[in-house]
Amino acid sequence: MLKDYEFWFVVGSQFLYGPEVLKTVAERAQEMADILNASGNLPCKLVYKATIKTNQEVNDVVREANYDEHCAGIITWCHTFSPSKMWINGFVDLQKPYCHFATQYNRSIPNEEIDMDFMNLNQAAHGDREHGFIAARLRMPRKVIAGYWQDEDVQKRIGSWMRSAVGVMFSRTLKVMRFGDNMREVAVTEGDKVETQIKLGWQVNTWPVGTLVENMNAVTEEEIDELMAVYQSEYEMATDDIETVRYQAREEIAMKKMLDAEGCRAFSNTFQDLYGMKQLPGIASQHLMALGYGYGGEGDWKVAAMTAILKAMSEGQTGGTAFMEDYTYNLEPDATYSLGAHMLEVCPSLAAEKPRIEVHPLGIGDREAPARLVFEGHEGPAIVVSLIDMGGRLRLIVQDIEAVKPILPMPNLPVARVMWKAMPDLTTGVECWIAAGGAHHTVLSYDVTAEQMKDWARMMDIEFIHISKDSTPEKIEEQLFLNDLAWKLK
Ligand code: MN
Repeated sequence: MLKDYEFWFVVGSQFLYGPEVLKTVAERAQEMADILNASGNLPCKLVYKATIKTNQEVNDVVREANYDEHCAGIITWCHTFSPSKMWINGFVDLQKPYCHFATQYNRSIPNEEIDMDFMNLNQAAHGDREHGFIAARLRMPRKVIAGYWQDEDVQKRIGSWMRSAVGVMFSRTLKVMRFGDNMREVAVTEGDKVETQIKLGWQVNTWPVGTLVENMNAVTEEEIDELMAVYQSEYEMATDDIETVRYQAREEIAMKKMLDAEGCRAFSNTFQDLYGMKQLPGIASQHLMALGYGYGGEGDWKVAAMTAILKAMSEGQTGGTAFMEDYTYNLEPDATYSLGAHMLEVCPSLAAEKPRIEVHPLGIGDREAPARLVFEGHEGPAIVVSLIDMGGRLRLIVQDIEAVKPILPMPNLPVARVMWKAMPDLTTGVECWIAAGGAHHTVLSYDVTAEQMKDWARMMDIEFIHISKDSTPEKIEEQLFLNDLAWKLK
């Protein structure tokens, strides 16, 4: 999917300096796009599109960008000075993600060569300030990245922002399939679907469990054989109860057919509505997540959609992204950890070792023992992400975590598990998380960063809260208070 998108490099200038300078600007912009594309640090292609000299040229490129479904955003830079009143009309109409790349063609100031011609050609230092002012004046959601364009860390920051922009594009066309409603009485999994569609673009709709059961009944033994071969090759079959695993394959095939027929990239279900089904989908949901579909348990369509979005943003990366739930704590003074899991549905993209297919009874619900993948999550820095509906607005909460190898083997725990240290520490992090209203369901990702989610939230025009190593409850509470005021005024 990343390869379906491109970004347009739009360079600001003006007629004042004569045709020679404009020719040089265009050549250099093309060269910069070529070198950035060849760097391997951008997940999507950068296309040099235009050198802007007039109001009409900005309007034209913005109109084209808005309607081009492959254009996931524009990246601007001012090689020379480019008077910004000519950018106003175009910027007002821009509907695509926007990044201002403040760089310059030359890395150093050349001692002998520098004269007034050089100064006229290479004046990004003040050109980018004029350019930045008008975006600030227009209150545009934008990313500003400053640095030398050939530096790897700068290129990677552009690449990282591109993934956030692709997350925006993905979000705006995302369809979510709900099997059954939210779990009875649960608050945080509720939300205003109309407001969410207005803000984030998601089309969230329901399909009868009965239709899923019809589709399950229509699945052939040959189709199940085929998927069982995939399970066998990717996972360790640690059960003799093959029929139970085959039932999961039947569920997966039926769900995938329905998802694909509707173009849905995320789904939710609930153990309280499995009418006509023998097992809650376990490995079925887990393997669909491994294929890139978003999932949310207990009817949690918000976390299902967010899982799909973070998976889309991190396409091609290998750390892993999954639906997750905070389950229980280890509160020993020298070893404070969160244990995350779910009753079944943790994505095997997180696994530190080959997942085992096991069959165990489910303590909740009234169905047969389901097959599921059991594994430990791997170590490493990650984030957990929660989207909540505050009534009138959406709030995205991101917490930095450090996943560790689980400190206990927990041999009788029949589900996949991840253990982590929350930032800034477990109990302070819990105080911040609860103050912000973060859910028990999250998306856990080793690939997507808090900065990428901040950029995504800004482009989506929703509230963003980051709990990091520097957070304190006092600072978070102050920010929540000020955000409440700000969002009431918006
Ligand atoms: Mn849950």
